[in-house]
Amino acid sequence: MRLFAALPIPSPARETITGVLDRLRDAHLPVRWVRDEGLHLTLKFYGEVPDERREVIEESLRIAVRDTGPIPIGLTELGAFPSRRRPRVVWVGLDAPPALELLQDRLERGGEAIGFPPEGRPFQPHVTLGRLREGHHLPAAILEREAAMIEPAASLAEEVVLYDSAPGPGGATYTQLLALPLTLSLSR
Ligand code: ATP
Ligand code: MG
Repeated sequence: MRLFAALPIPSPARETITGVLDRLRDAHLPVRWVRDEGLHLTLKFYGEVPDERREVIEESLRIAVRDTGPIPIGLTELGAFPSRRRPRVVWVGLDAPPALELLQDRLERGGEAIGFPPEGRPFQPHVTLGRLREGHHLPAAILEREAAMIEPAASLAEEVVLYDSAPGPGGATYTQLLALPLTLSLSR
């Protein structure tokens, strides 16, 4: 199984993003757009792991989310990796309140403790919208136009989910294996 932990994007940010995606899809660009259902912010990517590892990963998630309440998120900008002028991956950026950075760091360290090497690069919270097809380019004006449509859409992320990613013809499909609510509780 191919596992990663993420925040599903809550409303109303989700609707803002699906609106952008609808318009981008209509533009018939050489991009593989993601499905609306799986819109997420990746916090920790575990990659291909044997089934037996699932249990310890789930336990590290439970520990990492302990004492984390709902996390406010907001949308910042439409961007691209490696840059908006030479896009390969198109994304929407998210505000990173300290609670989000802390949670990501806990997941990163929890993963390290069970044998998953940490990301070598700084956390850049984003929601991937699409990936350029090999050998294609994107007219800069398209992204500029959509970038102007991004509004903060302040939202509250209330769960962390462990997803299994399965490749398929229309792009990867994500199955929720575990959903952990972000609720502050005194009795733990
Ligand atoms: P595909 O690779 O087939 O386009 P995908 O990227 O949607 O599909 P995965 O590769 O399984 O599916 O990745 C799941 C999530 O983890 C995505 O948000 C992806 O951007 C992120 N991700 C993938 N590889 C890494 C990595 N090495 N480091 C951090 N995040 C990653
Ligand atoms: Mg991938």
